[in-house]
Amino acid sequence: MHTSDCIFCQIAQRKIPSEIAYEDDEVIAFKDNQPLAPVHLLVIPKRHLRSLNDVTSEQEPLIAHLFGVIRRLAGEFGVAESGYRVVTNTGTDGGQVVGHLHFHLLGGQALNATIG
Ligand code: IMP
Repeated sequence: MHTSDCIFCQIAQRKIPSEIAYEDDEVIAFKDNQPLAPVHLLVIPKRHLRSLNDVTSEQEPLIAHLFGVIRRLAGEFGVAESGYRVVTNTGTDGGQVVGHLHFHLLGGQALNATIG
């Protein structure tokens, strides 16, 4: 389920410290350590999935749950009304650096076309 050389698996296992914003059995959310906006959270499945490409149809309820967590966090971090952006970079051309599926939640300022 976890991959020992994956930084986000290590965060999910609390082997690497992070500022955790939410956690349940399946999902964990933490602050990006190089924030691109006043609110910049990463929301991830605890299970190691490399990217959206790895999600099977059986795992789609997990992704739906994850989006519910994102919506809840947008409210808790005060950006639901002003607006926010959710991004998942996938693969090389998508600009994915960390090979563990993650969704960026960005907000707290007017986002331009390139941020995130
Ligand atoms: P990607 O380009 O979509 O893969 O984004 C990876 C994100 O993970 C970047 O925004 C990084 O700042 C963030 N990141 C990398 N390592 C850590 C960490 O240890 N804690 C929190 N965020 C991290």
